[in-house]
Amino acid sequence: MANHEASGKQVVLVVGGAVAGSEAVAQFTQQGILTIVMEQNPRPYGKIEDGLPRWHVKLRRQEYDKIDSKLADPNVRFIPLTKLGRDITLEEILGWGLSAVCLATGAWRDRPLPIPGIDAYVDRGFYYQNPFVYWFNHYEDPGYDGPRCEAPDGAIVVGGGLASLDVVKILQLEAVGHALKAKGLPGEMLELEHKGIKRSLDALGITMADLGVKGCTLYYRRRVEDMPLQEPPDNPTPEQMAKTGMVRRKLLQNFLEKYLFTFHERHAPVAPIVEDDGLAGLKFAETEVKDGRAVLKPGSEKEVRAPLVISSIGSIPEPLQGIEMKGELYRIKDENSGEVEGLPGVFALGNAVTGKGNIQISFKHGRLVGLHVCEYLRGRPALSPTKVAAIEAKIKSLQEKVGYSGNYKEWIAKARHFDGLSAQPERVEGVAPTV
Ligand SMILES: Cc1cc2nc3c(=O)[nH]c(=O)nc-3n(C[C@H](O)[C@H](O)[C@H](O)COP(=O)(O)OP(=O)(O)OC[C@H]3O[C@@H](n4cnc5c(N)ncnc54)[C@H](O)[C@@H]3O)c2cc1C
Repeated sequence: MANHEASGKQVVLVVGGAVAGSEAVAQFTQQGILTIVMEQNPRPYGKIEDGLPRWHVKLRRQEYDKIDSKLADPNVRFIPLTKLGRDITLEEILGWGLSAVCLATGAWRDRPLPIPGIDAYVDRGFYYQNPFVYWFNHYEDPGYDGPRCEAPDGAIVVGGGLASLDVVKILQLEAVGHALKAKGLPGEMLELEHKGIKRSLDALGITMADLGVKGCTLYYRRRVEDMPLQEPPDNPTPEQMAKTGMVRRKLLQNFLEKYLFTFHERHAPVAPIVEDDGLAGLKFAETEVKDGRAVLKPGSEKEVRAPLVISSIGSIPEPLQGIEMKGELYRIKDENSGEVEGLPGVFALGNAVTGKGNIQISFKHGRLVGLHVCEYLRGRPALSPTKVAAIEAKIKSLQEKVGYSGNYKEWIAKARHFDGLSAQPERVEGVAPTV
């Protein structure tokens, strides 16, 4: 096999070491391919660490361990704290003459909220989901110096997918948790999340009104039945669609009963309300759903004031110089191969391709594209030992720049030492939903 030729090796670069990237890495290392993993953060856990809310204690730990076991392979060269597009360009990387490059960079850009001028109010009464969840996941870390967010009672969330329900949950848990603690009552986040706010308050014989908590409100532009909380089967019949709609309604109902927030369907934000140079709320218009599209009802506008607005309408890949986009996503030939159009030997995988998904989808796509890349490499000559040595020298120089000694386990042990996870109790997780 070409990969084991005594004369040289295949060398693949994977950018992003999380669920999709690490699974592709596993496919390469099993074939004896020298695999470089370039990761922008100190730790390679991606959305598992910074997206999936931190109450998923057991799931997070399991996924961390899976990623670690794949990246600790002796055929992996890990380069942390190095961002493609900021610390090194794609053009430079392509100049290394690698056998293949895999982009497993995820979807880290919040889809812009379609209200002209709204982005001027980011951090002034307005947040996007990704930095908000990042803050929630990390603000208790010792020495945390990332974005600082507020989670005031009475906020508005614009969204409708599972991630927006997580944002709602964070707001509710923060508001109720603080109010309980202020009264000297138990308000531990993991406990509140697990039991639900309703059951926790009932057990204390207290209500949201007693606590002076109003709760947040979620606005969705279409009908409850359209919320992407549950996927229909492929090519669904009208009956199957109706059944999916009923499941979605039930899921939302359970959620409302458990976490006590307010929900409005068929409302689309149309304009900001600005006061003192900050966002003081949104104007919403009612909508009618016609052929699956939300159409604004003329004359239905109303003002909704709130101390905070959070947009949670989806995450998309960050543009990378040198990669063509097709709409919000990287332009690829097809999802099965992940081949990036116009760049032979460059592949994209995981959330970077789907722009959404869940752990399982990213894992499967990482494996699919990883296997496709192995197949692609079988037909190609290995790199000469001189070439491999030159690449190893470049890797070493990048590792030295960020103070990485070359020992993955040692590095992660230090990085995980600061992880609040170890202090949190275990509990059984539900089934991981689609986001
Ligand atoms: C609020 C929220 C809740 C969720 N809840 C669930 C759930 O309950 N169950 C579930 O299954 N899924 C859930 N998900 C989705 C799930 O976490 C993701 O779909 C999955 O983890 C994505 O994996 P990935 O490897 O494709 O991408 P990512 O995890 O995003 O990995 C991309 C990696 O690339 C790195 N990177 C990005 N750009 C660069 C660059 N330029 N240079 C170097 N490195 C770079 C990143 O740091 C990251 O490590 C949730 C997501 C969110 C946002």
